[in-house]
Amino acid sequence: MVITHNLGYPRIGARRELKFALEAYWRGQSSQADLLATGADLRARHWADQAALGLVPVGDFSYYDQVLDMSFTLGNLPERVQGFQGAELDNYFRVARGRSAAVAEAACCGGAHAEKHGDGGVAAGEMTKWFDTNYHYIVPEFTAQTRFALNPERLLAQLAEARAQGVKAKPVIVGPVTYLALGKAKDGAEKLALLEQLLPVYAQLLDRLAAEGVEWVQIDEPLLVTELDADWRHAFNTAYHHLKICKPKLLLATYFGQLKDNAHLAANLPVAGLHVDAINGREDVLPLLGLLPAHKVLSLGVVNGRNIWKTDLAATLDWLEPLAERLGDRLWLAPSCSLLHVPVDLASEERLDANVRSWLAFARQKLDELAVLARAINEGRDAVAQELATNQAALAARRASPRVHNPAVKAAVARIDAQLGLRESAYAQRAAKQAALLKLPAFPTTTIGSFPQTSEIRQARSEFKAGRLDAAGYQRAMHAEIERSVREQETLGLDVLVHGEAERNDMVEYFGEQLEGYAFSQFGWVQSYGSRCVKPPILFGDISRPQPMTVAWTTFAQSLTSKPMKGMLTGPVTILNWSFVRDDQPRAASCKQLALAIRDEVLDLERAGVRVIQIDEAALREGLPLRRADWKTYLDWAIECFRITANGVRDETQIHTHMCYSEFNDIIASIADMDADVITIETSRSDMELLDAFNDFKYPNQIGPGVYDIHSPNIPTQQHIVGLMKKAAERIPPERLWVNPDCGLKTRNWHEVIPALEQMVAAAKTLRNEV
Ligand code: GLN
Ligand code: ZN
Repeated sequence: MVITHNLGYPRIGARRELKFALEAYWRGQSSQADLLATGADLRARHWADQAALGLVPVGDFSYYDQVLDMSFTLGNLPERVQGFQGAELDNYFRVARGRSAAVAEAACCGGAHAEKHGDGGVAAGEMTKWFDTNYHYIVPEFTAQTRFALNPERLLAQLAEARAQGVKAKPVIVGPVTYLALGKAKDGAEKLALLEQLLPVYAQLLDRLAAEGVEWVQIDEPLLVTELDADWRHAFNTAYHHLKICKPKLLLATYFGQLKDNAHLAANLPVAGLHVDAINGREDVLPLLGLLPAHKVLSLGVVNGRNIWKTDLAATLDWLEPLAERLGDRLWLAPSCSLLHVPVDLASEERLDANVRSWLAFARQKLDELAVLARAINEGRDAVAQELATNQAALAARRASPRVHNPAVKAAVARIDAQLGLRESAYAQRAAKQAALLKLPAFPTTTIGSFPQTSEIRQARSEFKAGRLDAAGYQRAMHAEIERSVREQETLGLDVLVHGEAERNDMVEYFGEQLEGYAFSQFGWVQSYGSRCVKPPILFGDISRPQPMTVAWTTFAQSLTSKPMKGMLTGPVTILNWSFVRDDQPRAASCKQLALAIRDEVLDLERAGVRVIQIDEAALREGLPLRRADWKTYLDWAIECFRITANGVRDETQIHTHMCYSEFNDIIASIADMDADVITIETSRSDMELLDAFNDFKYPNQIGPGVYDIHSPNIPTQQHIVGLMKKAAERIPPERLWVNPDCGLKTRNWHEVIPALEQMVAAAKTLRNEV
């Protein structure tokens, strides 16, 4: 009998109940008891959803993040929050979210509390992406002095709760090696040196779970799908040889990619079972059968936990059945990874296009698929003939759908040649022509695109969507906002203006909504971090652009001013990386289609007289594969796609790109290869040191290093900006520098934006005189 299990379930709730409960609690509008009740309710519902499984994950629920949970379980709290005596949950949120001194004072009981704990403001833990997903975890902090101490209450309480509900519980924890690897040594301490004292705490935890009668524990070590050096491989051996004396059986879970040369290591660690991602790491499976000791369980992740498509059940069974024969009871089935990365329930979607809907599976539906697969293996395909037939019919309809396949788009992609990605002339010639046309001063000033999304804007948009405001009324409202932005920018004296993006809800959704081949869910939310969720649009078919998407807004804005108005687009790689993408063709193929569609928009803008066009690639870096060995392939097609989009213009048209992150060292050659005339990047917090990556030889074109952090309400001073730019000028020739903020200003208020930009423009003027 094959057993089914799950690695983790989305905790945010089908209607984002956890988000709203958390935010109400943080605002002080609900009690801790209310929040805990919502948590318990969600857990109960989610366990009920999973009741048909042989083993159900417990401990995967989190009020913020599972890695932060693990830090608390291991007693590894940053020093700055140690000694706090309030509710543990509040301390937990303190690490998760930080707390400004002002808030700390205002919120603390009579000030005494603040004094007692020196709680004058606490920095939040750093947050970073969980492997190659869009989920962000709170980075564990280590120092050479870090000591661990078991704090198993959260996990034990959830276990007891699950047991009381009759759940066949399998506790889930992050494994010790992955936990260490994900953390950051604040003092540069050697993280692996901490392993020796970390392991006894894990052993204690496992013993506690055994004492509760737990048979299986899932111990997540996704680090095994990344490139490991000898020390980290050794750490795996040390860790699991230490833990092998513990009673519960360990299911070592790997996911998101291939084990490749770690397969031997993973197969031979002294644990009772191994889970592998048979979607992204299918090639590992056959070799693993030979490597895996005969007593071990092999759990195969056969339902994709990262996308929203129905599984091809028949094809999966074709592949699985011979394996099941060989493995017998040692075979378990599961989703490829935790279902945290997909929305909860397709049944909530009432407005989704019926065709597209019939091709999809969210978390609940994925568990149903798993049940069908297990029954087919256990009882024969006839036992689930009906389910298999329905599945086949849906897949056949998708494969044949004219909404998915557009021959004209495929033909256009087939016609792509190297020429398409090339500018007419090299940068130096273009730059001269652009300078003659645009007549910009030295240190030209600009912004990254968006201006504050005021409540009036949001209201007009939602009234328009709800049909209560007609198209003309909506256009009037947006025109008024654009006009306001243009006037403010003229008053400020900025050199290259933007229209302000008032009409955009989101930089990807805005374009997706206007492209053929995209669908939008109502409730397809996926947790990004804490209470924050994203609702990635669904790229389901060949991409085409029925009509221009931004030209009317941009030309309206240009008509209001004689200063150059920047056209503002999102690039193909970013649109791709922030969408759920097709599984029936490679990512690169979808990206090329997007590239051609956005290229047409670029050319339409140029034709309409727009002289500067910015193509944002905020998410280019995010798409980097888990293994460095795969980076080049990704960067090659990603950069090619950007070039196809950007480089069809005349020499006189100035192309900008923007990236809001600050790690460039390892990809600078590719960034330079994009050949944008100007790149604006996030730099203010790194004190311009990151420009070392861009110094003269490595980056030949113009650069706008962000001079202030738009995430903070603080107003930068002119002197500070001048200082930063002077540092920049030590690294990049001044004639190639622009002055701009780190990113778009949509989350700020006008009363913050105006004084900040006043300082920035004043700084540029000073620089023109001094440098
Ligand atoms: N043009 C976009 C804006 O200003 C860029 C946003 C981003 O980089 N994330 O909002
Ligand atoms: Zn940005």
